[in-house]
Amino acid sequence: MVVTTEPSYTELVNLNKKCNQSCVFCGAEGVIKAQSMKAVNAAIKRAGGHLTIGGWEPTLHPRLAAIVARAKKAGVKNITLFTNAVLLDDAAYVRQLISAGVRTFHINFPSHEEKLSDLLTGVPGSFRRRLAGVRNILTAPGRKYVSLVFVINSLNYKTMPAYARFVAQNFPGLVHVLFTAPCVMGRAAQKPSLVPRLAKIKPYLAAAQAAFLKNRVKCLVENVPLCLLPGAEHASFDARNALMTGSAAALAKSYRKECAGCSLRTLCPGLRDDYFRLYGSKELRPSKRRPEAVARAVKLLKAAQL
Ligand code: SF4
Repeated sequence: MVVTTEPSYTELVNLNKKCNQSCVFCGAEGVIKAQSMKAVNAAIKRAGGHLTIGGWEPTLHPRLAAIVARAKKAGVKNITLFTNAVLLDDAAYVRQLISAGVRTFHINFPSHEEKLSDLLTGVPGSFRRRLAGVRNILTAPGRKYVSLVFVINSLNYKTMPAYARFVAQNFPGLVHVLFTAPCVMGRAAQKPSLVPRLAKIKPYLAAAQAAFLKNRVKCLVENVPLCLLPGAEHASFDARNALMTGSAAALAKSYRKECAGCSLRTLCPGLRDDYFRLYGSKELRPSKRRPEAVARAVKLLKAAQL
């Protein structure tokens, strides 16, 4: 059984319909539904090697450790938890989850600045608790991995390069950071001004990627078309997925008229449909880069665990 640290979207169970934060960019509100225990058990049976536990905030569920232990007993090797890590400031809870079988903690970490983080999550004091949570996981005994998610929005995109330096200095042992452009759903749909233009984030994203590369931290990018990642297409989650599966297709993303003649269509699924409805597609620029060059860069980086 291959152990992977990347989340699986095929078996994703949602345990809760509540959260202890109120993030301005939350895409879950009004979208994610809690599943019954019967449905969770059926997902565990189907999971095979990989199960992701999410929902609003799974650490609030009183039986989380027991559910994880059940999945492990059923043979699931890769158990990933999507969490904001606030309750993981309790080191004993972290140890309990690791020994029950959580292998990867995929943490919503929207800023390295305390004031901005608390503003984005709507909960004063949550930054310090999350920071303690990440450190508790990294220093806990047992085999585990930590990855961070940074949801790019209008309030934090300029801080991405400093975020990359902070993460590289403060979280040794992290497996990767995922920069993700927001989906226009949930709260972000109610306040679309929070969704930044992709062309505006481009230079900050490039600087953050360079800082991560320099510090040998793996960095992935989601929901940003390849033509807006020139020279760093290798970091695209979609491109890596296309290279693995042989298909670039992705849910809720489509080619637009600018994509005609683009050299990277075999690796890029196009633009998110909800972004297109908001801003159109004028920022897209068909690429001339050869897909083989992107594939080679991905291969080299993967060999270096980046
Ligand atoms: S032009 Fe279209 S297919 Fe080409 S990289 Fe941009 S979004 Fe993807």
